[in-house]
Amino acid sequence: MSAEDVLATSLQYLKGVGPRRAADLERAGLHTIEDLLYRFPIRYEDRSRLQPISSLKPGLPASISGRVIAAGLRSTRRPGFKIFEAAIDDGSKSIRAVWLNQPYLKDIVVRGQQVVLYGPVEMYGGGALQILNPQFEILDDEDGALIHTGRIVPIYEKTGSVTPKMQRRLVFDVLQTLPPELPDPLPDDIRLRLQMPARAAALHATHFPPADAPLDALNRFATRAQQRLIFEEAFLFQLGVLARRHAAAAERKATVVHVDDRIRESARKVLPFKLTNGQRQALKEIVDDLRRPQPMNRLLQGDVGAGKTIVALLAALVEMENELQVAFMAPTEILAEQHFLNISRLLAPSRFRVALLTGSTSAAARREQLAEIASGAIPLVVGTHALVQGDVQFHRLGLAIIDEQHRFGVLQRATLREKGLRPDVLVMTATPIPRTLALTLYGDLDVSSIRELPAGRLPITTAAKPESRREEIYEFVRQQLDAGRQMYVIYPLVEESAKVDVRAATEMADTLANVVFPQYRVGLLHGRMKADAKDRVMKAFAVGEIDVLVSTTVVEVGIDVPNASVMIVEHAERFGLSQLHQLRGRVGRGAHQSYAFLVYQSPLSDEARERLKAMTETTDGFEIAERDLQLRGPGDFFGTRQAGLPTFRLVDLVRDRDLLDTAYREAERYIDTAAPSAAARDKLMTTWEQRFRLIEIG
Ligand code: ADP
Ligand code: MG
Repeated sequence: MSAEDVLATSLQYLKGVGPRRAADLERAGLHTIEDLLYRFPIRYEDRSRLQPISSLKPGLPASISGRVIAAGLRSTRRPGFKIFEAAIDDGSKSIRAVWLNQPYLKDIVVRGQQVVLYGPVEMYGGGALQILNPQFEILDDEDGALIHTGRIVPIYEKTGSVTPKMQRRLVFDVLQTLPPELPDPLPDDIRLRLQMPARAAALHATHFPPADAPLDALNRFATRAQQRLIFEEAFLFQLGVLARRHAAAAERKATVVHVDDRIRESARKVLPFKLTNGQRQALKEIVDDLRRPQPMNRLLQGDVGAGKTIVALLAALVEMENELQVAFMAPTEILAEQHFLNISRLLAPSRFRVALLTGSTSAAARREQLAEIASGAIPLVVGTHALVQGDVQFHRLGLAIIDEQHRFGVLQRATLREKGLRPDVLVMTATPIPRTLALTLYGDLDVSSIRELPAGRLPITTAAKPESRREEIYEFVRQQLDAGRQMYVIYPLVEESAKVDVRAATEMADTLANVVFPQYRVGLLHGRMKADAKDRVMKAFAVGEIDVLVSTTVVEVGIDVPNASVMIVEHAERFGLSQLHQLRGRVGRGAHQSYAFLVYQSPLSDEARERLKAMTETTDGFEIAERDLQLRGPGDFFGTRQAGLPTFRLVDLVRDRDLLDTAYREAERYIDTAAPSAAARDKLMTTWEQRFRLIEIG
């Protein structure tokens, strides 16, 4: 068998893997020997230096090995709650091991067995020690002793019926049959220059580290062997990203945009204020893209209130002056409407007409508008993200603007392609992607960032307060209301039950209206309301007919009520950091000093404390994004259901950022020097898409 065939061998053919285990492994995404070898242990345990039981100290986790000298089930005062305990003796001393509520262990852990335990050691009555709910392995087979103990052993995640120990055995056996010369996807010169071990050696040392491997480096996945395997995956990923970038560079759009003095003058006419430096730079980058023959693929990121809309609108104006059409899309109808009103006002002095196309547009009006869009009479259409997916036919679509979307208009772009359109695409987001991540993940996407806010904005004053200080907060905000300001009170969304959310928000609104602020008008907004009812409330708040708006998180990103200068966030401990920042961005949009109170319920978890601390320490969205990524990890940062995030086997987007950077640079250099043919590039892209399961986003 060739080395490649060995790696491609299905796991079900391995000794010790029956159909049931094969199915369990499949479910965990492990189909072939390669899959198995490219799954890292979750951690490593040093069983070469097992601690003598006599030397254990309370408060730390420990690995011990010994014989079971007694074992049994014990009832407790709580009915039905059983404790399984065993006495383990290693010759130096014996210790009690306790498992709570796992009565079935009585048939598994029995007297006479040799076992390895790993778990926290703690004090219990009378100064004796016990080890609580330890993970355990029974060392039954004689030869297995060499694999499972007496060395640094890998601990794998349990996959169905396949225990960590079985997996260790499996990996061990597979490694014995592996040819020493594995074909290496990493080019030799790169590997040698970066002083990385060969593939087979790296696999051996990752799963069964040599005796002198440092345990802490292993558990940080920072050994040379581990890094080499992570790098291999990162490199392949970046190659694919770059291949896409090259392919995109070969694309041509239907019409290239021109800019002259007449167009510059036209833009100046609609501009109500001076652009900030950041806005001017972003606009320049965008317009440079418009003038290129390749379609633009750009992300415009800037904190809430940074003024992205006007930049997008000026880009739209340039397109329209070139007789091209523009689709301007927002995530919700309320926001689409707000954009429509805003844009209509700004474009009033120009010759361009704007249409709003939403679900609430009447059938007759819609038909008429569609005809005018198809004929090209309407150059700018505002709508929701669904705008380009429906029956809308453009005469000459030149630019698609997608507001407040992190996912780079994945669907929109795909749909446009299907319709045979290759317009410029500008995606805007107020949740910045930390720079390194954007570069490594979306190397095929250009990014413009607006880092400063327009002059004259006062930073929002933010305080985190426990529930018990509520009265103080009310006292303070009353002065603000008395001075004519408005306020948001935000309730968290507990996703399991919209009903509970609505009730909590409703009760809060009642209390505020009747007890706390009887002299002020209190409104309520939540996700269960009909769209037009929501709309009415939002508009009433916008024109100042409501003073206090109690709302669940439906107050979207982008709503602009400058007179609202106070926000109280209830149960602030339940919100993610980026979300808190987004919410806070609803205030601080006018000339008034604004305040955000984050009301929390004690006790706080460490992570919640960090989030609230970050909120009170900075108002910089880019820094918030960095901290959020550190706190939560990328999966949660992008939202768990976030499509478009690659599925890595080994790479961790936070832990391995430096490695991803290096991989990007190496891949760039490789593509430049090796200059793969178009066919080779296509092949690279296909395998890449399968491997990382990315949706078409380029
Ligand atoms: P976001 O980037 O969050 O979408 P907007 O585009 O809604 O921000 O702009 C926020 C507010 O700032 C708007 O009221 C807008 O008119 C105003 N604004 C934008 N740019 C400037 C500027 N250069 N000078 C003064 N005000 C500005
Ligand atoms: Mg906006």
